[in-house]
Amino acid sequence: MIILKSKEEIAIMRKAGRVAAGALHVAASLIRPGVSTRDIDEAVEAYILQEGARPAFKGYRGFPASVCTSLNDEVVHGIPSPRRRLRSGDIISVDVGVILEGFVGDTAWTFPVGKVTPEAEKLLRTTYQALHAGIAKARPGGRLTDIGAAVQEVLEAEGLGVVREYTGHGIGRQMHEDPMVPNFGPPGMGPVLEVGMVLAIEPMATTGGWATKVGKDGWTVSTRDGSLAAHFEHTVAILEDGPEILTWPEVGMAWT
Ligand code: MG
Repeated sequence: MIILKSKEEIAIMRKAGRVAAGALHVAASLIRPGVSTRDIDEAVEAYILQEGARPAFKGYRGFPASVCTSLNDEVVHGIPSPRRRLRSGDIISVDVGVILEGFVGDTAWTFPVGKVTPEAEKLLRTTYQALHAGIAKARPGGRLTDIGAAVQEVLEAEGLGVVREYTGHGIGRQMHEDPMVPNFGPPGMGPVLEVGMVLAIEPMATTGGWATKVGKDGWTVSTRDGSLAAHFEHTVAILEDGPEILTWPEVGMAWT
C-alpha cells in the first residue's frame, strides 16, 4: 500500500531531507586519500546527532554503522571500517539515512578520490544524470515505471550496466515503503503517480554487467564481474507542479 503524505508531513520530510543532504556535505569535506571509511561514518553520525536527528541505518536489520560506504566494485551496503582507507583513484559511494520527527530522509552520492580514470568519471557523471532523468518523471499523472525507464535509457545509452537486484522505494515514517522503484523496464506501467507520494529514487550503475553478489559480511553488495559501480539517490516528493527533491542542496561536483 502506497502511503500518501500531507503537506505538513512533506514539510517535516523536507527538514529530514536537509539533514541527510548536510550529512553528505560532511562526507564530501572528508573525501581524500588516507581517510578511513570509519572516519566518514563517525563524522556523519556526529553531524546527524548535532542536528537533532538519528541515523536511520544504524541497527536497521542489524546494520552496524550510520552510513554505507561502498568502494569501486562495491555497489551498496558496504560497512565502514578503520582499516579501509581511501586511495587516489578510488570511487566511494556514501549512502545516508536520517530520522527527524518520525520521518526518514535517504540520499547517496558517489565521490571520486583524488584523480580517477576517465571511465570512472563517466560512470559517475552518467549515473548522476540518470538520477535526474528519473526524478523528472516523478510527476502526477505519470506512471511509476516511467522513472526507471528514463534511468535505464540514460545509462544504457552510455553502455553502462543497470543493477536489477536493488531498487528505489517509497519512503516516509518507514525507510522502505511501497512501491519498489526499479531502475529499468518499459515506461507506462505500475501505479499512477499522485500528489503526496514520496519516493527514494536511486540508480545503481556499473561499467560492466548488472549481476551482483553479497559478501561474507552479509551486507556488502559487489558487482559479480568486478566492474566499477556508482550509486546516487535523492528522496523526492511528488507535488502538483512536479517533483521536489527533499534531500537538497546537493554536493556540487564538476558534472552537476
Ligand atoms: Mg534508499
